[in-house]
Amino acid sequence: MARSLQSVRMSDAPRTLYLAAPRGFCAGVDRAIDIVDIALQVYGAPVYVRHEIVHNRHVVDDLRARGAVFVDELRDVPEGAVVIFSAHGVSPAVRAEAKARGLKALDATCPLVTKVHLEALRYAKQGYSIVLIGHRGHVEVEGTLGEAPNAIVLVESVADVEALDLPDPARVAYISQTTLSVDDVRTIVEALKRRYPAVHEPAKADICYATQNRQDAVKELARRCSVILVVGAPTSSNANRLVEVARARGAQAYLIEAAEDIEAAWLTGDVGITAGASTPEDVVRACVRRACELGGYRVEEFRLLEERVMFPLPNELLGAAQIGGIAVGPGNERAAARVTGGEIRIRHH
Ligand code: SF4
Repeated sequence: MARSLQSVRMSDAPRTLYLAAPRGFCAGVDRAIDIVDIALQVYGAPVYVRHEIVHNRHVVDDLRARGAVFVDELRDVPEGAVVIFSAHGVSPAVRAEAKARGLKALDATCPLVTKVHLEALRYAKQGYSIVLIGHRGHVEVEGTLGEAPNAIVLVESVADVEALDLPDPARVAYISQTTLSVDDVRTIVEALKRRYPAVHEPAKADICYATQNRQDAVKELARRCSVILVVGAPTSSNANRLVEVARARGAQAYLIEAAEDIEAAWLTGDVGITAGASTPEDVVRACVRRACELGGYRVEEFRLLEERVMFPLPNELLGAAQIGGIAVGPGNERAAARVTGGEIRIRHH
């Protein structure tokens, strides 16, 4: 009798929806979106963007509606037009092609991706064989490979490491894609160290702070709830990794792009929600509302830590904005905050 009373009380108690923090936009994504936004204001539409500026259809659709044109190849950009390279970075060959075609190129490559490019260049100059840990075909990996195509070999797994045949085992270095699973990379690096004990590693991990923090938060989330919803695009590497990390910790994890993807049947017990680094906060909020409608949750933020990272905008873009007397509109307050001297003003459309 006592047991049945307890179970009635437990089933009546409101369930909790834990909203992970940090989640969603990282500093590199913020900056990339600001670059397209300000370029549209400075140069006017159309502004061309090579590849999705970040892997999220909500972001891409919004910028497209305001005059951004997304292309896969530079040949689709008219001579002399403005083209923006995405946050994932590009190879030197792409930069050279843009220059040869007389395009006005703006670089939205995340500085943390640029860091990996510079490591590749440095190791290649020093005569190392470079092992790049990453996913074949990912835009970021294509750009990094292009920095030193003859010196870099891509590995995706421990099996790939076992199959390596490098010319000088004493001169091997590794770098990695910025958005991988921290745990997967650790396993691959351990295999590399077993095969090449002298392998050089980056002074600071290549997996970026945003990827690391979101994965750490989702691990904690998985201790609190058995169901985790990751809001992000199927093409987003870091969102997919969040799903894998949650599943590896025993949670039922689902990747959703929008609120309407949530199925009532998933919502058993307490639920956690997080978001990949390219997911806008308003999409996350819509998912929280929908989950609450379906599951009657009370919402509690689970904050692992505060992020206070901000990357500066490219000088050439700021210079052009200042010369043109262009104001930065609402929604770009972050961008305006990067600008010192008050040359760029906040304006209301
Ligand atoms: S996920 Fe990391 S590397 Fe990618 S844009 Fe964001 S901060 Fe930069």
